[in-house]
Amino acid sequence: MGYVGFANLPNQVHRKSVRKGFQFTAMVVVLFYSPFCDSSFAGESGLGKSTLINTLFNTTLYPQNKEVLPPSADRPKTVSIESISADIEENGVRLRLTVVDTPGFGDFVNNEDSWKPIVENIESRFDAYLEQENRVNRQKIVDNRVHACLYFIQPTGHSLKPIDIEFMRRLHAKVNLIPIIAKADTMTDEEIANFKERVLNDIAYHKIHIFEAPTYDNEDEEALAEQEEIASKIPFAIVGSNQLVHTPDGRQVRGRSYPWGVIEVDNEEHCDFVKLRQMLIRTYMEELREHTNSYLYEAYRSEKLLGMGV
Ligand code: GDP
Ligand code: MG
Repeated sequence: MGYVGFANLPNQVHRKSVRKGFQFTAMVVVLFYSPFCDSSFAGESGLGKSTLINTLFNTTLYPQNKEVLPPSADRPKTVSIESISADIEENGVRLRLTVVDTPGFGDFVNNEDSWKPIVENIESRFDAYLEQENRVNRQKIVDNRVHACLYFIQPTGHSLKPIDIEFMRRLHAKVNLIPIIAKADTMTDEEIANFKERVLNDIAYHKIHIFEAPTYDNEDEEALAEQEEIASKIPFAIVGSNQLVHTPDGRQVRGRSYPWGVIEVDNEEHCDFVKLRQMLIRTYMEELREHTNSYLYEAYRSEKLLGMGV
């Protein structure tokens, strides 16, 4: 398979970022449902976000700085949002990736405002950027804006839950939303196909804007095929694992072992992990950054300035 996109994009912005290295912030949102609020559920783990982060970068990321949100009177419980950074290299390009993790999110009796800390986090990053832009010396602007939000959907096989809809609607004007079906290995191919369709219908019905992978007509055939392939996989059905397992035919792969066989993380026949990774750090990284800057941030900025009567 040839390399497409990222490293070959012929635009200025891209070349500049290749030279300097750059920052890219993805936000991982995991909905942790505990509808029964029962202690037997207390130990239940989430939907696999830590696993996916590690799978994505084939590494173990350690928390570097913990951003603890200021206590707020209208927030019933302190929610800590952690950001984890790692330098990775893709096609010889150095890239700092920060993942914003939201532990225990959604895990409240009252989930009504659970989107708030996340939206506040995104906005505070916009504010930090705006503040730097307004400085006299604008030489070294650090871009810590969130460029993508991977939204984990529980693999229920039904449709989106009200809290998913609420959450995505609160987020979609602030961040590039990329919906993900978590733990896709718990569903059959057919169930996944049906679930994807339902999720997309719900998203359309509720007028939720998710990141749309653009396709460019002037690309070569291979690039175009890759773009169409990525677009067709959304919402990505994801299996995460850092465990090496043996396949029946004797290969060692990252995957999950079941009595009936092995699900391979890096096998496109088995799940959409490869496509998701490709989208995030190769094919559409520029688009994600560009859309954040020219559209999402710009909208926030004008609204803010209007609000200040500027
Ligand atoms: P987090 O709380 O969202 O960060 O979830 P973790 O990454 O800690 O994963 C919670 C549990 O789910 C762990 O036991 C993982 O091994 C398991 N897990 C993570 N990803 C997957 C997956 O894609 N499929 C399955 N079946 N289990 C997963
Ligand atoms: Mg975790």
